[in-house]
Amino acid sequence: MQLEYVSDESCGFLLGTTYSDGGGEVLEFIEVANSEQSNKKNRYLIHPTDFIKVERMACEANLEIIGVYHTHINQEALLSSTDKKFAFPQFFYLILSMVNFKFSHARCWRMDNEGIFKEIPINVVDK
Ligand SMILES: [Zn+2]
Repeated sequence: MQLEYVSDESCGFLLGTTYSDGGGEVLEFIEVANSEQSNKKNRYLIHPTDFIKVERMACEANLEIIGVYHTHINQEALLSSTDKKFAFPQFFYLILSMVNFKFSHARCWRMDNEGIFKEIPINVVDK
C-alpha cells in the first residue's frame, strides 16, 4: 500500500478469509476512491459501485471482502463516532494512523452482532 504524502483520508477493502474463532486473514488490500464530497480530511465514503466492483474481484480470486481500511490523518487509530455509526457487524475495520504524512500505527476493530466494538490484535506475516 502506498499511503504517504496523502492529506485526505484513503480507504479500501480488506480481502481474505475469516475463521470460525472470530479471526481473519487479509491477503489483499484494494484501494478505492474516497467518495466523500465535503470533508475528505476527516471522513471517507466508499461508493456502492466500488463495493460491487471489488466484490466481483474478490469472488474471482476466491476471496471475500472481510473488512475495510481507512486512514486517520494526524489522529489516533481509534473508531470515530461516524466510523461506529456506519459499521457493519462482523466486518474488520483497520484504521491506519498517518502522522505528518507518514504511517504511525494501525489498529483493527470489529463490531459484534450486539453492536459491541472490540479491538482485534494484528499480526503482520511476511509471505
Ligand atoms: Zn475513521
